[in-house]
Amino acid sequence: MAETTHTKVLIIGSGPAGYTAGVYASRAMLEPVLVEGIQPGGQLTITTEVENWPGDTEVQGPDLMVRMRAHAEAVGTTLVSDHIVALDLSKRPFTAKGDIGATYTADAVILATGAQARWLGLESEEKYKGFGVSACATCDGFFYRGKEVLVIGGGNTAVEEALFLTKFASKVTLVHRRDSLRAEAILQKRLFDNPKVEIIWDHVLEEVLGGDNPRGVTGARLAHRDSGETREVGCAGVFIAIGHSPSSELVKDQLETHNGGYVVVEPGKTATAIPGVYAAGDVTDHVYRQAVTSAGMGCMAALEAEKFLSEGDA
Ligand code: FAD
Ligand code: NAP
Repeated sequence: MAETTHTKVLIIGSGPAGYTAGVYASRAMLEPVLVEGIQPGGQLTITTEVENWPGDTEVQGPDLMVRMRAHAEAVGTTLVSDHIVALDLSKRPFTAKGDIGATYTADAVILATGAQARWLGLESEEKYKGFGVSACATCDGFFYRGKEVLVIGGGNTAVEEALFLTKFASKVTLVHRRDSLRAEAILQKRLFDNPKVEIIWDHVLEEVLGGDNPRGVTGARLAHRDSGETREVGCAGVFIAIGHSPSSELVKDQLETHNGGYVVVEPGKTATAIPGVYAAGDVTDHVYRQAVTSAGMGCMAALEAEKFLSEGDA
């Protein structure tokens, strides 16, 4: 028979929000159980240098997450390698079902499921995913040594991906749908200063071009945002970096969401409309979406859960 684990606090997600919630909930003697999901460590595990984590001028994203994990575990968080596939918030204790058949019941739940890469939704993008189309330069950049690649997007991720790819590619072309980037100024300067980078402004990706035998990318057709005029650019890889969507599928029918799926919480808190249920990090934050703000919200969620449980409402 499948195993059932009861915990006072169930934390779903192992990014900065989840691990920080684990640290605080453990130190409040709540013996939390943290389910790590299919991306242990979260989004920072697919990047390289993190330069805005206070206390570290520069730290590798995966290293930072290994340290956060160790910290949460050392103070008493039980870490579970599982992925939650269903969550019932209709009655207490709340119930979660894991991918491996386990059941978790909890007096309080901290949802820290973060966000995942957004795709354009093109047929050709789907066709060449894993065959020249990627959303992770850190994972796949190495395959493009000496080749030309395209990066689509104009935010921090796109600029960081483009800069990272210059280490391998002979040329990196950033394609952005407007005539200015939203990435932070220091990153923009690095991009503009890099001789391997070309920027194509005011264009969108219309189609990824490629062959079938072997399946692979040979170029892209771009369209001008206003005139619709198209042009073809040769490249071996296309990196999509157009932002992230909140991973709120587990609660989309149970909690209010806004701005494209972000879980609504009380202003200045992490409490959702269901007492005992909290949302922290990128799953609720459509504004800042930073490691440090996610960690901060993880702390808030654990402290709010502790108060809720100690007031005897559970
Ligand atoms: P995430 O890090 O997204 O983690 C979500 C977690 O939830 C994962 O562990 C996943 O496995 C788990 N999960 C999801 N669904 C389930 C489920 N159903 N069951 C169980 N677990 C689940 N921010 C910065 O401050 N500085 C940077 O330099 C920086 N660089 C970045 C570079 C890249 C390429 C990207 C993509 C983001 C970067 N960010 C950076 C943003 C930062 O990574 C995020 O703001 C932060 O990771 C969000 O933390 P989180 O804990 O909310 O969620
Ligand atoms: P983002 O800031 O939302 O930027 C997404 C970019 O993609 C925007 O430039 C947007 O264009 C473009 N875009 C969106 N949809 C598009 C479409 N359909 N077609 C073409 N272009 C499209 O996302 P992000 O860069 O992934 O960053 C997410 C969060 O993580 C941000 O809060 C960011 O600060 C954080 N982050 C931080 C760092 C860091 O601190 N170094 C690094 C990476 C990420 P418009 O500009 O026209 O809207």
